[in-house]
Order: sequence, then C-alpha cells, then structure tokens
Amino acid sequence: HAKEGGKNSFRFYSEKLNTDSLERLSLESGLRNALENNEFRLFYQSKQDMATGRMTGIEALLRWQHPDLGLIPPMQFIPLAEENGLIIPIGRWVFKTACRQNLAWQAQGFPKLSMAVNISRRQFFDEDFLKDVGDALQESQMAPELLELEITESVLMHDMDRTIGILKELKQMGVRVAIDDFGTGYSSLSKLREFPLDTLKIDGSFIQNMIPHAEIKNLTTALIDLGRSLGFTVVAEGVESKEQADLLRTHSCDQFQGFYINKPMPPEEFTLNWTTG
Ligand code: C2E
Ligand code: MG
Ligand code: MG
Ligand code: MG
Repeated sequence: HAKEGGKNSFRFYSEKLNTDSLERLSLESGLRNALENNEFRLFYQSKQDMATGRMTGIEALLRWQHPDLGLIPPMQFIPLAEENGLIIPIGRWVFKTACRQNLAWQAQGFPKLSMAVNISRRQFFDEDFLKDVGDALQESQMAPELLELEITESVLMHDMDRTIGILKELKQMGVRVAIDDFGTGYSSLSKLREFPLDTLKIDGSFIQNMIPHAEIKNLTTALIDLGRSLGFTVVAEGVESKEQADLLRTHSCDQFQGFYINKPMPPEEFTLNWTTG
C-alpha cells in the first residue's frame, strides 16, 4: 500500500544517490592515480581524402584502462577531469604521446601524416598551454605543421579576444587548428572568419541524419559551403556508410572520418591495418 510504497521509493532514491556519489568518488580518486599508474591509452582513427580515399591524417582519442571497470570512454571521465583540473596533466600526456607515436610511425617508414589531438576548454585557456604544446613538439621532433589541435565552438565563443590571441600564436608556431563538432554549438557565423582556423569538422549527428531527412541534408551541404567559402578544409565526422560518403563527395566535402572506414584502434592494431591495407 501507499505508505510502504512511499518508503520504498524513498529508500530506492537515496540508495541511488549514494551509489552515484560513491561511483563519482571512486572514479575521481582513481583518476588521480591513473597517470602514474599508466592507465591511459590512446586509440587512433584515420581521416581520408574524399576524392581519392587516401589517408590524410590521424586523430588520437583517449581511453582509460581502469583496473576494475575496464576500458572507459572519454565522455565518462573527461568532464570530471575538467572540473578538478586533472585535464591539464592528462592533456599534456595526450599530446606528448600522440606526437611520439606519430614520429614512431614515420620512423617505421609510413608516410608523414597529420596527428590531431582534442583540446578541452580548460586546457586551451591554461597559462602554460602554449609552452606545453611547444615542449611536446620539441621533445618528439615532430614537424609543427603535422600537429592539429581540435577545439569546440564553446572555446571559440568563450572569450573571443583571448582566443584569437592564442590561435595567432599557434599559427606562428606552425600548428594547425580545427573546430570540432561544428554545427552543434553557437558560433557567431559573422565572427567565424576572424579566427585563424584551418579545418572545420562537421558533427556526426548531421552526417547520420542527412539521408533520411532532406532538411538535414540541406543543412549539411550549407555547412560544407560555409566552411569552404571561409577557406577551411571541411571534414565530415561520423561517416558510417557508403551512401553518406557518396553524398558528401557530391557536395565537395574535402575529407571524412568514421566507422565506414574504421573505428578508433590501439596503436598496434592501427599499424597492422596500415601494413595490410
Ligand atoms: P570527437 O573528437 O568529436 O571524436 C569523435 C567521436 O566519435 C569519438 O568518440 C569516435 O570514436 C566517435 N566516432 C568516430 N567515427 C564514428 C562513426 O562513424 N559513428 C559514430 N557514431 N561515432 C564515431 P570517443 O572516442 O568516445 O570520443 C568522444 C569525445 O571525447 C571526442 O569527440 C572528444 O570530444 C573527447 N575526447 C577524446 N579524446 C580526448 C582527449 O584526449 N582530450 C580531450 N580533451 N577530449 C577528448
Ligand atoms: Mg575530435
Ligand atoms: Mg567531433
Ligand atoms: Mg563529438
């Protein structure tokens, strides 16, 4: 009856709360030690030229190999790492490791390709950010032109003047910058041309909905035109089928990335795929 039910649902509710906060607490303490325990992994996904299908670049995507919970995807711990600041040392590890891996592939005789690394807002505005990027390049000896930093619209519009200043310094270093997940944020289209950017990556949600929905298809082709008219290289993310790739090619998209070609892979598997084509 009612009374009992109420009691039970209250208990259920509070237990759930406790589990959530416990989980969070254990994730957070685990995250603190994850770097020194060597629990982070980078997976790599290729990017292809739309016209020739040739590989043009690689994106590094972070995972956490948790001792009890297994492989944890970035969306489950990066927000936490941003909140508590751990994203700074973690991010430093990410671009160092990615640059090093790229150079290792070059040393094995694979063609020189660009290496893209995702940068969160807190990292981008950290006072040591430019120095950390410079250090990673210096240490790995990778050509700066081969490093591409992926930032989101939320970074662009956060503090425009400061952002432009940082972007100009990156440009001076020779590093390339992409806007990731484009179309999902709130960029001011009139201001977009003021940012020294190189690449515009159209969010996968557009690509995956453009075949069933004509209006999404029109929106996607408008985003391609916008990017190209601003002089950016336009990349479609999250391409899962040949139909999607064909449609994007018809509409002059420059490059694409997605499960249609491959999933993000650990470095050994990426090497193997590369060798066997
Ligand atoms: P993102 O940079 O937009 O990366 C694309 C995400 O889509 C990746 O998820 C990738 O595995 C997934 N993906 C690739 N192709 C397809 C496809 O064809 N279909 C679908 N449905 N998904 C596809 P992942 O690896 O879970 O990463 C999620 C997000 O986490 C990334 O989105 C990026 O924003 C963030 N992230 C990943 N690594 C790092 C990092 O090292 N630092 C920071 N700050 N953020 C990172
Ligand atoms: Mg990305
Ligand atoms: Mg994206
Ligand atoms: Mg995304």
